[in-house]
Amino acid sequence: MPDDRLKYMAEPGVPDLQKLQAEGLYPTDDRIAAGPVAVFECMQEIPCNPCEEACPRGCIRIGEDITGIPRLDPSCTGCGLCLPSCPGLCIFILDGSYSGTEATVTMPYELLPLPEEGETVDALDRQGREVCEGRVVRVRAIGTSELCRSLTVAIPKAFVHDVRHVRRQSD
Ligand code: SF4
Ligand code: SF4
Repeated sequence: MPDDRLKYMAEPGVPDLQKLQAEGLYPTDDRIAAGPVAVFECMQEIPCNPCEEACPRGCIRIGEDITGIPRLDPSCTGCGLCLPSCPGLCIFILDGSYSGTEATVTMPYELLPLPEEGETVDALDRQGREVCEGRVVRVRAIGTSELCRSLTVAIPKAFVHDVRHVRRQSD
């Protein structure tokens, strides 16, 4: 019997982007190329919804069923204000317009010591496998958290769907 929790995943922990895009649950390649936009890697239909209240533009909709998957309005500006609201560290900001060759991925980051802006890091996929090198372009406090930072890394455009974490090369 198929596991319903995996219905939006190509394999455990890895979203099925084509299926998510077809259902409007992940931005299209054109939208990502146009500029910063949020993605919600929240595919298990858990009872959770603080992200819905976090967007000042009302771009996130879960609906009456609290186990729904967040649905994003295309008017999202990619401001990142929703990122600290997610207890599951599931929200990322993708920007395919960063430069001619690079995209950026902004992610929640809780490890210490923090990477520094300008530092070269190993860019990892959702399963912790190294994908490419990245360059940290921004580290910011998010919300009131002492622990969690928002970290933005520039990577080759081809890997914008893959990179979701980084590892310091000096660790
Ligand atoms: S990135 Fe900004 S505009 Fe987009 S959903 Fe999050 S808070 Fe709203
Ligand atoms: S806050 Fe995070 S875990 Fe909760 S519904 Fe939103 S994206 Fe999913």
